[in-house]
Amino acid sequence: MPSFSTWRTGFLESPAVLAFHSDHFVLPLPAGHPFPMGRYHLLRESVRATLPGVRLHESEPATDGELALAHEPAWISAVAEGTTSTAQQREIGFPWSERMVQRARRSVGATIEAARAALAGEGVAANLAGGTHHAYAHKGSGYCVFNDVAVAARLMQAEHHRHALRWPQRGLRVIVIDLDVHQGNGTAAIFRDDPSIFTLSLHGARNFPFRKEASDLDVELPDGCTDGPYLDALDAALATAFERCAAHPPGLAFYLAGADPHEDDRLGRLKLSAEGLAARDRRVFTELARRGIPVALSMAGGYGRDIGTTVALQRRTVELAFAAWRQWQPRQQSSERAAAEPMEEPMEGSMDARMEEWGP
Ligand SMILES: [Zn+2]
Repeated sequence: MPSFSTWRTGFLESPAVLAFHSDHFVLPLPAGHPFPMGRYHLLRESVRATLPGVRLHESEPATDGELALAHEPAWISAVAEGTTSTAQQREIGFPWSERMVQRARRSVGATIEAARAALAGEGVAANLAGGTHHAYAHKGSGYCVFNDVAVAARLMQAEHHRHALRWPQRGLRVIVIDLDVHQGNGTAAIFRDDPSIFTLSLHGARNFPFRKEASDLDVELPDGCTDGPYLDALDAALATAFERCAAHPPGLAFYLAGADPHEDDRLGRLKLSAEGLAARDRRVFTELARRGIPVALSMAGGYGRDIGTTVALQRRTVELAFAAWRQWQPRQQSSERAAAEPMEEPMEGSMDARMEEWGP
């Protein structure tokens, strides 16, 4: 009988952390457009060249039905059919094109696949794009068309229910750890009244979006914030978030590891060093691993004056995700051994049992 992981995804034989990408779908942007479209391709090439421990997969596009878990049908059809207004396109920051639709769908698809792999036993998996956290249920904004994390979170909750029907279970709780320098306003708005999804956002107080939404926990940082105060704020925020989730611990995390808090970012306004960002990533992965919470990583923003700086920062984040994945594997192997032994419970129950075992 196949193990839970093989049965769900076929990824068990994966020799390394999985990273999903969609950078073949490049938008036709006008000359001089500020969005660094090239960095997605450069990141994948850098990962391929320097991190043999990362297994790359092109993602599938998210379907209308999947998008509808977090988006209003009118918004999905306006994007799909190209009937978005000029004002709506201006708010997104991209002109509409067929490629924009494909790219947006695949970016969501990559986060869905990363989350599914993380949950199915990988522990850690990545989207080399994504983190489109400014998209609301009814509109896009700030280079974000659809909200990848919102769709993936809802879909993983639905799949969790579908696969665990015969087993007394709690629903899948989710935590979103958004460390992009801009507030995750779309995500906060979509999950405002959803107690099953905890949203944490650390962001620049004076940065976009200028009208912020209420996350479950918002931490605002002053312009020019450096490594020390940032990491102190992060430690406190993570402690508070997990304390507030203690009664219903998350079984899945989304981590938006924006590179835009970096000191050389054009838009960030903060002053984190490369080492500070690496320390940030390590803290997040360590806290999640300590609690046995699988994590899907999205890259989110990064607008370095030199695109190579942003790519190097994001490559480092992927490298740290690989290190976190490696730490997860001994735990996974012991679970696989346990799963291989005869057991009375239905197969679907094993994931819940493992969640209990790994709980805080
Ligand atoms: Zn950002």
